[in-house]
Amino acid sequence: DSRADCPPDVEILGRSSWTLLHTIAATYPDTPSRTQQADMLRFMDLFSKLYPCWVCAEDFQSYIVKRVPKVTSRDEFGQWMCNAHNDVNRKLGKKEFDCSKWLERWKTGPKDGRCD
Ligand code: FAD
Repeated sequence: DSRADCPPDVEILGRSSWTLLHTIAATYPDTPSRTQQADMLRFMDLFSKLYPCWVCAEDFQSYIVKRVPKVTSRDEFGQWMCNAHNDVNRKLGKKEFDCSKWLERWKTGPKDGRCD
């Protein structure tokens, strides 16, 4: 790739941000406390307000109002995040990700070693 990584464009920012978001979901507790659930809702709310691609942020803010993040367990949150990412994939004409493979992609690692 001849394009420089700095400063990050919308694509690089997006890839890095999804990595952070899915990894946060992958390390979220199976049975989060009330405080952990409240923190996650606050994080998602602030993330959607501070995301430094303004058009992306606007859409994501209305998305999380319509589809409130499910923060009651790691699995629920991971599936919610996967669906949210698929919604953006659809909007951008990218192919959808099979959410049954979410944990493999972001936590345990794919058996064949390939991420995509
Ligand atoms: P990415 O979509 O960045 O995905 C990275 C990797 O995640 C993939 O290679 C795949 O292995 C895995 N993956 C793909 N789909 C899923 C899924 N559903 N669940 C789990 N893992 C998955 N860009 C815009 O141009 N317009 C926007 O409005 C916009 N909104 C965004 C909103 C948010 C909250 C974020 C984080 C990013 C947004 N982006 C937006 C960026 C966009 O989603 C992509 O990150 C960017 O286009 C780079 O795409 P990519 O093909 O490298 O893969």
